[in-house]
Amino acid sequence: AAKAAHDRPRRYTPDLDETSDEQARIGAELRTALDAGQFRVVYQPIVSLPAGETVAVEALVRWDHPERGMIPPDRFIPAAERNGLIVELGEWIMRTACTQAVLWRAQHGAAAPMRMSVNVSARQLAEPGFAAMVAAVLRETGLPANGLAVEVTETAVFGGGQAVQSLQDVHDLGVAIALDDFGTGHSSLGLLQTVPVDVIKVDKSFVDTITMAGRHAVIATALIQVSAGLGLTAVAEGVETAEQAAELHRLGYELAQGYHFGRPAAEPSFTIPVTGAV
Ligand code: C2E
Ligand code: CA
Ligand code: CA
Ligand code: CA
Repeated sequence: AAKAAHDRPRRYTPDLDETSDEQARIGAELRTALDAGQFRVVYQPIVSLPAGETVAVEALVRWDHPERGMIPPDRFIPAAERNGLIVELGEWIMRTACTQAVLWRAQHGAAAPMRMSVNVSARQLAEPGFAAMVAAVLRETGLPANGLAVEVTETAVFGGGQAVQSLQDVHDLGVAIALDDFGTGHSSLGLLQTVPVDVIKVDKSFVDTITMAGRHAVIATALIQVSAGLGLTAVAEGVETAEQAAELHRLGYELAQGYHFGRPAAEPSFTIPVTGAV
């Protein structure tokens, strides 16, 4: 919802002014929160169809506020982007997620997820030092580059030359690039020609309608064909029901993510029972 708000033309209604005030206040608090260690990272399984094996996890940040409880990222990431703190917060998220990935590898061996997928925002990619930061985190944590993916949207890459350069540089390290919210205004086909993409994450909106009658599976079908044709990996996002999982599998999807398989958690299950899923 926060992303959609970004794309709307700004209209100075009282409601929006209130939102801006709230965002400014949150922005000021973020610095303190980072220093006080109030951020947490939770992980959501990305599973294989039909086996339900956790092949990867997506890292998702939370703000564990002492008074207001757990605050979702849509409420504070935009403010962190505006005041620039996302660069430091994003580095903390990257280091935390890679450290966790290495720990799981030590604890679970082959049962640990093969890849850690970390969301990265426009502001981070615009930093000329982004790829060097990723390289340093990989070196310090000991996570192999092929154990990491970065998730970006088209909006993030609109930033221009440095954003594309940052992605090329991390790709050269051996890190996978995933296009997030694929098929929406945030990520589209054109980007596949400018960015070295490995994974497309097919947006929840195309999964939501997949089991409905009529033409609703047309886009999900087209996107799996584009993905296969270009030799990419497709992940279906926001899978909430067994019916959706079964239909996605039938259409040729091999990877999926959503509440049906597991919610984001500090310690997600790596073996997901998919009885009835496919
Ligand atoms: P996203 O990258 O598209 O992440 C997927 C969002 O969908 C997550 O929300 C996840 O909890 C939610 N989700 C997963 N499965 C389902 C499902 O089956 N049904 C429904 N209704 N929702 C599902 P979350 O964690 O609140 O994150 C929202 C957005 O905030 C993310 O969207 C991403 O754009 C941003 N974000 C989250 N963590 C980070 C981060 O560490 N860095 C940056 N830059 N952005 C982040
Ligand atoms: Ca994502
Ligand atoms: Ca997404
Ligand atoms: Ca999204």
